[in-house]
Amino acid sequence: MPEWPIHARFAGPIVMIGFGSIGKGTLPLILRHIDAPRERMVVIDPDDSARELAEREGVRFRRLALTRDNLRRELSPLLAGGGFCVNLSVEVSSVELIKLCREVGALYIDTCVEPWPGGYTDPSLSPTERSNYGLREAARALRRPGIADPTALIAHGANPGMVSHFVKQALLNLAEDLGHDVDEPRSQAGWARLARDLGVKGIHIAERDTQRANIPKRLGEFVNTWSIEGFLGEGMQPAELGWGTHERWMPPEARRHPYGCDAAIYLERPGCATRVRSWAPTPGPQLAWLITHNEAISIADYLTLRDETGNVTYRPTCHYAYRPSDDTVLSLEEFVGNAFRRQKKLRLMNEEIVEGHDELGVLLYGHARNAYWYGSQLSIAEARRLAPYQNATALQVTSAVLGGMVWAIENPRAGVVDADEIGWRRVLEIQRPYLGPVIGAYTDWTPLSGRPGLFPEDIDAEDPWQFRNVLVR
Ligand code: NAD
Repeated sequence: MPEWPIHARFAGPIVMIGFGSIGKGTLPLILRHIDAPRERMVVIDPDDSARELAEREGVRFRRLALTRDNLRRELSPLLAGGGFCVNLSVEVSSVELIKLCREVGALYIDTCVEPWPGGYTDPSLSPTERSNYGLREAARALRRPGIADPTALIAHGANPGMVSHFVKQALLNLAEDLGHDVDEPRSQAGWARLARDLGVKGIHIAERDTQRANIPKRLGEFVNTWSIEGFLGEGMQPAELGWGTHERWMPPEARRHPYGCDAAIYLERPGCATRVRSWAPTPGPQLAWLITHNEAISIADYLTLRDETGNVTYRPTCHYAYRPSDDTVLSLEEFVGNAFRRQKKLRLMNEEIVEGHDELGVLLYGHARNAYWYGSQLSIAEARRLAPYQNATALQVTSAVLGGMVWAIENPRAGVVDADEIGWRRVLEIQRPYLGPVIGAYTDWTPLSGRPGLFPEDIDAEDPWQFRNVLVR
């Protein structure tokens, strides 16, 4: 009997691209829960400092930076014959990888729709080209309705990813608590109708990371609990949010995209300099950053209702409201204060974390019970006990990659899919042992609580849940 439950069997080669904080944590979970031949697995990363972690498990390591020029040559032979490409790298184009996987008949998963280098910060690109909206549209343009292409599950980590499944569970919990007698929806429109009927005006992906290290952040140092490159990359993208039908004011710097699903807007300012008011169970009310994320767009798009003529009749506002670890907040302030110049020293907190948890959930607001948070509260101690090479932030992501891989193996011909479109119960079932306490909590806090205070403010006093009140201006 295996010590760990085997969730799926996969006979082909598994090719993991990127062996950073998420890759290192994902590999042991794959080895535990997916029965696949290790001699056919390979990890690719230009940085071979963690080579030993792979080789110790009997997994081949190749020191290699994938580029536009070598991608096909290097990967085609590795993935041919029904492989699985697990893309956990930065700066390797997801769209190009999906195309290649389709050609060679391989499955694909990533946790972020990544561009080639410069895709987030190249000043010659327009803000819409640097947005997650643009990246998601490019990936979804590969969809071919009616053709059973190999499954390519995009943006399936914790967030984006798991939080889309949390939204569904939260909607069902809310329905029960509000006394609505509903069956679980079976379609996109069914979920959107449920959100509308419950009176959900919007959703924050509300996160608080309280992990703390015994080495304080020093001047000129950027400290984080996960990829600093990844965080600064998305922090420098325009702030983006799914734009709800209840909103009656737009920030002057807001823009619509002239193409695609039109579910989201972007602000002409970076997310790392855009703060919002939000709420999570441990801190209660908190200031957070509106960092752009794929799920802000995909959830809003998925929960959109249209009439027969195609006009949008309902959509919730949706955005990330992220309060990273205290030392990361200090690092971010220093970075923004220094005209977005990167600190020379970057430190990924790991062994030195002594306490704290990552609290990641969805805050559904505007309904009859005001606001409801549903999510995972995973402590550093529990994360370390559950799986190697991770902290609390990483385990929420790596377990989502595992869940997504199992779903893809079980559904190999689904084509390009968002997290919102897959078997959410199956994924959460696989992830659940790795998430710590998963709780629901109501609050009577609103973005107008305590306002206006000592000074006049430009607020919408009639509807607390207007973005006008959420955005710190
Ligand atoms: P990381 O920086 O720790 O690791 C990325 C790895 O990619 C590094 O080891 C790097 O050497 C490698 N890499 C860089 N260029 C490469 C190339 N050309 N070819 C192959 N490998 C290359 O980052 P991470 O924290 O492990 O994050 C990895 C990805 O996961 C990022 O896209 C990040 O945005 C995403 N992520 C998603 C979530 C989520 O919840 N959805 C959470 C955390 C991270």
